[in-house]
Parts: sequence; C-alpha cells; structure tokens
Amino acid sequence: MRVLVHEVGFLRSNSYVVYDEASREAVLIDAGDDAWLMLESIHDNRLKLQAIYATHCHFDHVLAVDDLKQAVRVPFYIHRDDLEVLAMGKEMTRRFLGIDVPDPPAPDGFVEEGQTIQIGSSTLKVIHTPGHSPGSVCYYGEGVLFSGDTLFQGSVGRTDAPGGNAEQLVKSIVEKLFKLPDDVKVYPGHGPETTIGWERRHNPFVGENGYLRRRP
Ligand SMILES: [Zn+2]
Ligand SMILES: [Zn+2]
Repeated sequence: MRVLVHEVGFLRSNSYVVYDEASREAVLIDAGDDAWLMLESIHDNRLKLQAIYATHCHFDHVLAVDDLKQAVRVPFYIHRDDLEVLAMGKEMTRRFLGIDVPDPPAPDGFVEEGQTIQIGSSTLKVIHTPGHSPGSVCYYGEGVLFSGDTLFQGSVGRTDAPGGNAEQLVKSIVEKLFKLPDDVKVYPGHGPETTIGWERRHNPFVGENGYLRRRP
C-alpha cells in the first residue's frame, strides 16, 4: 500500500491518495479542496480511483468531492452519524469563517465500525471514533492509520463545533486508537504525520499525562 499526501485548501487539510502498487487501484481519503491536484496525482501515477472516503464531513474535508465526481465517476462514502454535520456545513462555514462554500456533496453510501475496504490486495478497516464530530472515523491497515481530525501530531481535534464532544473524543482515542501498536504511522487530517507510540506517551491532551485525561 502506498500513500500520496496532498495538502489542500486554505485550511490546509490533508487529502490522501492510497493505492495498491500492483493493481494500481486507489481510493481517496478526504477530498478537502483543489480537486485538480488529486486528479493530476491519479493520472500521473496511472491509478484507477475506486471511491472517495471521508474521515468526517466538515467542509474542509469534502469540498472537492463534487468536482472529483464530475471528472471520475466514483462513489463517495461517509459515516451515517455525520449526515447532520454535512448538511450544516454551509451555514457553519459562513458563521465561523465568514465564507460561502458550495452545497455539500451527497453521499452514495455509508461506512461503519469494523467494515473493511479493499484496495487491490490491501485492506483498510473502519474505526468509528466519535468526538470531533459524531460520525468521525479513522481508516486503519498495514501499519498505517488515517486519523482525520480526531488525532494530530501533538494535538487533538476541536470539539466545540455542533456535534462535538470532548469526553467522547478522549474515549475514542484512548480506547480505540491507543490500543494499536506503537509503530503505527498516523496520517492526520491536518499537519505532519506521527506515530501511535509517540502520541500515547507525549500527546499533551490525551497522552499518558495528558491534560484532558487528568480532568475529573
Ligand atoms: Zn474537522
Ligand atoms: Zn479539518
């Protein structure tokens, strides 16, 4: 399994092209903006895009979906619990950021906890990690975790947007993500990559001595 990282849009979210080297089958994890970048990357690497998966439905992770779907006819999948977040995106973006974004894309189907995604001979598993949003998910396989806005290098996702829940976020990370092996490489929704081991020990919010874990 190979991973190509694209940092897109003015919120600098990461869009990941994940592909199987032998079959050239590929999926996109988050399509935040700048569809042309992903299309170029798919074309240049001779990849066959199968689907687009969202880690969650904040606009900075789904803004390029419609443009991509117009160029390559592939289905778009989200977790059902983020339907409301997806629908609210336009209004929230105007309220919090003062900008207008297009209507959100319509999902073609849903992912759920434990489901597996086949990319050629590679497999990713869906881990439901509510907290940053109710339908936040991570995708895990072959020593790699796509953590969306749940876990960042040295930080965690905000929980102050509608549907966010700090308690759930900590629980999702500690009980699900931190159970993964130390050397799992984490590709977050924003910023540089990290590892499960480093975050479990040193993350200032959810690590061993993390601020959010010491609160009563
Ligand atoms: Zn987000
Ligand atoms: Zn984000």
